[in-house]
Amino acid sequence: SFQQAQADVIPRYVRVNTLKTTLDDVIDYLKREGFSYQGTASQLEDLDRLSGKTFLCDLHLQDLLIFSGKTDFHDHFLYKAGHIILQDKASCLPAFLLNPQVGSHVIDACAAPGNKTSHLAAIMKNKGKLFAFDLDAKRLSTMSTLLLRAGITCHQLANQDFLKVDPQSPEYKEVEYILLDPSCSGSGMVCLRDEVSEQQDDGRLQALATFQLHCLNHALQFPQVQRVVYSTCSVHSQENEEVVSACLQQNPGFRLVHLLPNWPERGHELFTQCLRASTAKTRTHGFFVAMLERRPPQTDEEN
Ligand code: SAM
Repeated sequence: SFQQAQADVIPRYVRVNTLKTTLDDVIDYLKREGFSYQGTASQLEDLDRLSGKTFLCDLHLQDLLIFSGKTDFHDHFLYKAGHIILQDKASCLPAFLLNPQVGSHVIDACAAPGNKTSHLAAIMKNKGKLFAFDLDAKRLSTMSTLLLRAGITCHQLANQDFLKVDPQSPEYKEVEYILLDPSCSGSGMVCLRDEVSEQQDDGRLQALATFQLHCLNHALQFPQVQRVVYSTCSVHSQENEEVVSACLQQNPGFRLVHLLPNWPERGHELFTQCLRASTAKTRTHGFFVAMLERRPPQTDEEN
């Protein structure tokens, strides 16, 4: 089927968990197991040539390896030991771009099952504070297992509605970075893309967009927040550029950050500072990422 053909085009991405190992150690381990390392990808077509036990390093993201889409690591030692995380390339963008400083205070607003939380913790070298919220208790328990296996210790998990987290609470007064990956239509997920999701009814999209905008506006209320990364696995502008546009209009103290100049797919219309991802242009699931930053205080000369 067409869907299966699309899914076959997406390679298997493997993120190295730098809290437990290093990129070089994982490459060496795999080579000893008979995998053949081909260096860093230089163009999209290199990914299409992967087969059998060959693998590459990613061009844009450090600590990300790429295998043929048929490679399965779910039973592999490195996966079970938390040395590698099985995560699509596009979904590695938000934490990588937010790039919180070691020792900083960070919120992951809609965190379960925790792939991006574990990525944030790795970037923070497990130092500082990582507050992770999710509404869904079942997804949170999966998340605890994942974070334990990955050796994350700097986090505090809460079964809580992010919209009800008080930005004025002294607990969050040092939070400078927020990752917001809220519920979305999922229309970018290649395996989920069937007739039902193609014809998303407008009411559902509108409800999701309203929720996403509430979350984004809420994130900007934290008094010390400097950067907020917003992402969805949706292909609909309604959940992406339109949410960002409405938020910027309502929060003139924030602006967009121009992300990865060499990334091949940009946000639609006026939103070229943002990134999109797709099977056709990036060999990933469909994805959107925007980063908002607080404008620097105006100096006297600018007044
Ligand atoms: N960031 C996660 C990761 O990388 O593994 C995936 C997050 S998923 C796209 C969205 C999550 O938001 C779901 O787990 C859902 O339970 C949670 N969620 C929905 N509404 C929420 C709310 N008001 N507050 C906190 N979490 C919420």
